[in-house]
Amino acid sequence: MPYVKGRTKIKLYNTLTRRKEELEPRVEGEISMYACGPTVYNPIHIGNARTFINFDMIRRYLEYRGHKVTFVRNITDIDDKIINRAAEEETTPKVIAEKYEAVFHADMARLGVTPPTHEPKATEMIPEMVDLVKILIERGLAYEVGGNVWFRVREFKDYGKLSGRSLDEMRAGKRVEPDPGKEDPMDFALWKRSKPGEPSWESPWGPGRPGWHLECSAMSLKLLGPGFDIHGGAQDLIFPHHENEIAQSEGATGEEFVRYWVHAGLLNLDKEKMSKSLGNVMLLGDLLKQWSPNTVRMLMLGTHYRNPLDFTREGLMQAQANVEKIERTIENIDFALGLELPVSRHNTLGLRDAVHEARAHFVSAMNDDLNTAEALPAIFNLVKEANSVVEGADELPVGEALHKCREELLELTDVLGLDLEPQADWLSVEAPLRALAGEVLGPLPTGVSREGLLNALLERRAAARADREWSVSDRIRDSLAATGIEIEDTSAGPRWKLVRK
Ligand SMILES: [Zn+2]
Repeated sequence: MPYVKGRTKIKLYNTLTRRKEELEPRVEGEISMYACGPTVYNPIHIGNARTFINFDMIRRYLEYRGHKVTFVRNITDIDDKIINRAAEEETTPKVIAEKYEAVFHADMARLGVTPPTHEPKATEMIPEMVDLVKILIERGLAYEVGGNVWFRVREFKDYGKLSGRSLDEMRAGKRVEPDPGKEDPMDFALWKRSKPGEPSWESPWGPGRPGWHLECSAMSLKLLGPGFDIHGGAQDLIFPHHENEIAQSEGATGEEFVRYWVHAGLLNLDKEKMSKSLGNVMLLGDLLKQWSPNTVRMLMLGTHYRNPLDFTREGLMQAQANVEKIERTIENIDFALGLELPVSRHNTLGLRDAVHEARAHFVSAMNDDLNTAEALPAIFNLVKEANSVVEGADELPVGEALHKCREELLELTDVLGLDLEPQADWLSVEAPLRALAGEVLGPLPTGVSREGLLNALLERRAAARADREWSVSDRIRDSLAATGIEIEDTSAGPRWKLVRK
């Protein structure tokens, strides 16, 4: 069954409506998408990394299905946390923000996260933020007290629609804060008066700086327009951050801000919620000292993006084995492509079917709210089929089918952001193989294929075993293993298999 792009619709779980909905972009074939970026005061931890990997996966899949995606991910480069960190390190907030922005970009590059279409910094959009606050004051949705501007939540009738909580419930759960100027404990800051020595910008309310929630509204509205398709972030941003973004944006424009609110699940470290207060935080940079970006991604995508992820060492080991399994399969295919074996029509048809099946299974899993946990098995089914027809084969599928299978494996894994282009060139097997054959078998005629060399060596080994010349047979087996070829003795005779050195 040939696969046709765009035939079935992608379903996304929308936090706002609490159900899966078919993705209907505002403009056919185009998606506008915003995800909250980092506050650059610290290197990111693996929970943050999970969120960025998941939104990268979503964007890649939308593009794979033929959508033109405009993706905005901001940098929060002014915030209390940055100011506090600057005080600790006895430097300026600007120095801190620049330092950790560079660390963040390096982390994203290592993880293979595609850079966003636009990456605005909060401090570069202060005039837009001031304008937004002015509009909210004009509309009676905000008020100024002593240089601070607050959003008046009770005047925005939809307040609570994203988190599904009423204002009364929120007030009941709210700690009393010493903000004597606020009309309601739930009112939140749009503009904060600067304390002496803090960075500040001029405004109609005196020198100050924007509140965090305001930054995201101003940046997304400016770059994506008054309404856009997808807004994402981690689940812990639903309240208050995203609730407040809706209040500010819809309060100012009077239009629907976002169609689909998409929230990524959190991460448990060894079965415990990872949090700074518990002291169990693992930085991404530390994780990548021991594990490859592919392994980290494989682990993250093995769990559906909305579910909590249990991050364990066992999970990492399993993910690493899974990455290697796909890499080895591609190498096996590359090696088989260099062999001159007879073609099997049966294996050719079987492999072609497996390629179509894998793609259809992958697409239907991903269309169902980006279910990577179900899309990965589609890839592994193809891996299994490919290995069954190439490992130790006497006959092979036609080369075109092998190429197609190789391309499909690389394409589907690339949609998930895994970079599995072979590192090793299996042509490099040829030189040591030829040298070994020369040593064991004596001078060889030129032009013998890789397969011819391998078969001649296996025959020599069989003869040595029959004559109980163990040193010769062991030497051939060990030298082949050092080259990356493993010999397995079966009732049908010896079979070779490529393994990673
Ligand atoms: Zn945000």
